[in-house]
Amino acid sequence: PQMTPCEMTNLVEEVLSVLKHEADKKGISVNRSYQNTSKIQADIQRIKQVLMNIIKNGIEAMEQNGKLMVEVFLKGEEVVTVIQDTGEGIPHKFSKYIGTPYMTTKENGTGLGLSVSYEIIRVHGGRIDFQSEEGVGTTFTIYLPIISQ
Ligand code: ADP
Ligand code: MG
Repeated sequence: PQMTPCEMTNLVEEVLSVLKHEADKKGISVNRSYQNTSKIQADIQRIKQVLMNIIKNGIEAMEQNGKLMVEVFLKGEEVVTVIQDTGEGIPHKFSKYIGTPYMTTKENGTGLGLSVSYEIIRVHGGRIDFQSEEGVGTTFTIYLPIISQ
């Protein structure tokens, strides 16, 4: 894979612009909070695929007028990307299967987005966490190592 030094915020912005129409159609507002971070070493297409999967899941989880919050900041030696929605949440009984292939609650879902995303981030030396509350929303957090000096 082509590994390139890049800024996470640029990748997030590119993905948000692709998904803007879908968010606008549902009246979803997008809030951003970006801190200057150090660069990550990334297979750009793959990291954008992860962001696409997670942000799209957030948009799909929300009804009209939801709120999507995207934060990027530096914490120690990691770039932390937080994607938070005010959607339906993940039912408690499903939470242990998150990241497992073919787990979907959608009529036309593949259930592959998150399992592929977890693998991509793992290969980059990072990890993904999530927190969710039914009826309140879901937060996915991606941790990726900064380029070591
Ligand atoms: P798909 O989107 O094709 O269903 P994913 O792997 O992307 O597959 O997601 C798997 C399942 O995890 C979804 O079907 C949904 O039940 C749950 N999920 C993922 N993200 C969210 C979210 N932001 N809010 C609520 N449920 C979610
Ligand atoms: Mg998905």
